[in-house]
Amino acid sequence: MRFVDEFRDPEIITKAAAEVHRLVDPGRHYRFMEVCGGHTHAIYRFGLKDLLPENIELIHGPGCPVCVLPMGRIDDGLSLCQDSNVIFTAFGDMMRVPGTHGSPLEHKARGADVRIVYSPSDALNLARANPDRHVMFFAIGFETTAPSTALTLLRARVEGIKNFSVFCNHVTIIPAIRAILDSPDMRLDAFIGPGHVSTVIGCRPYEWICRNENKPIVVSGFEPLDMLQSIVMILRQLNAGEAKVENQYKRVVPWEGNRAALRAMAEVFQLRPYFEWRGLGFISQSALRIRDEFAEWDAEQRFQVPGVRVTDPRAAQCGEVLKGVLKPHQCKLFGRECTPEHPIGALMVSTEGSCAAYHSYEHRKQLLTNIQTAA
Ligand code: SF4
Repeated sequence: MRFVDEFRDPEIITKAAAEVHRLVDPGRHYRFMEVCGGHTHAIYRFGLKDLLPENIELIHGPGCPVCVLPMGRIDDGLSLCQDSNVIFTAFGDMMRVPGTHGSPLEHKARGADVRIVYSPSDALNLARANPDRHVMFFAIGFETTAPSTALTLLRARVEGIKNFSVFCNHVTIIPAIRAILDSPDMRLDAFIGPGHVSTVIGCRPYEWICRNENKPIVVSGFEPLDMLQSIVMILRQLNAGEAKVENQYKRVVPWEGNRAALRAMAEVFQLRPYFEWRGLGFISQSALRIRDEFAEWDAEQRFQVPGVRVTDPRAAQCGEVLKGVLKPHQCKLFGRECTPEHPIGALMVSTEGSCAAYHSYEHRKQLLTNIQTAA
């Protein structure tokens, strides 16, 4: 398949890995953060860590939108489905994320009308098909998914569909990166930039990282060769004493982003003064709210939302893992109390969550090695 096979070709991958080994300074320890959860998943899925020199450490970043959502927001959204007239809709990866009183799926098991949708426009279709019910879409995601929510709200307004609303949890990537860089316990040498978000925002918004923090950032694709090539590009910059934004994912990411998508977002959303992130606390101007012109379709303005704040279970170390301070397996609950079958934190639920990725690939590989050693 074009754009897949050639990026998984073992011969080319071996050459790229050799180039990484050639470029590293053996006396230096490198710490590169992959911002996006999709990259974390690719690293474990393709065993990329095993191809890299030991002195390159990959730090998992906060780019999984399900993972960074605090439990209070999940509780707030689920509080609305207590009303039997409300159909609660969300993407599939939200369904098993624990709230204080259970996940959306557990609410469904208790009788709430909870449904998976593949897009916000599916939720709008549901509203068209059920004029006597109210359909609420639990919107989540970075700038990658925010445009589709914006376009759906524009469509709802054009058609005058009144039995539809959005509970908006869209967040923005740049303030999260800034919060990571401000964290005193975080030392990073460079960033592997998020590929999906950058298809919308482009590469320009990252330039301050290079300018102010003197760190390279390479926007990367998600195939194994993409990621190795991005690491080669980072090492070349570091060896040349440079810090600039580069775009490895040119086949998908336009340097200036997607102007039509940005326009739709600007028309429908505005920045919230503050928003709480799991693990990172309150970050200013880091999330989107629906503009007052669309208040009729804003679940937070239309309904009474409790606005609860909930702390994670004490032993759960999701915050430290999200900040890259701990690796998933270093959480006290990993693989014991917290597993994909019985997740305690969202990082163990979402396919982009670092704990789920580590458990699916690295943890199983480790168990297999232990069994083979014992045999
Ligand atoms: S193992 Fe579970 S509790 Fe621990 S950080 Fe991961 S998701 Fe959170």
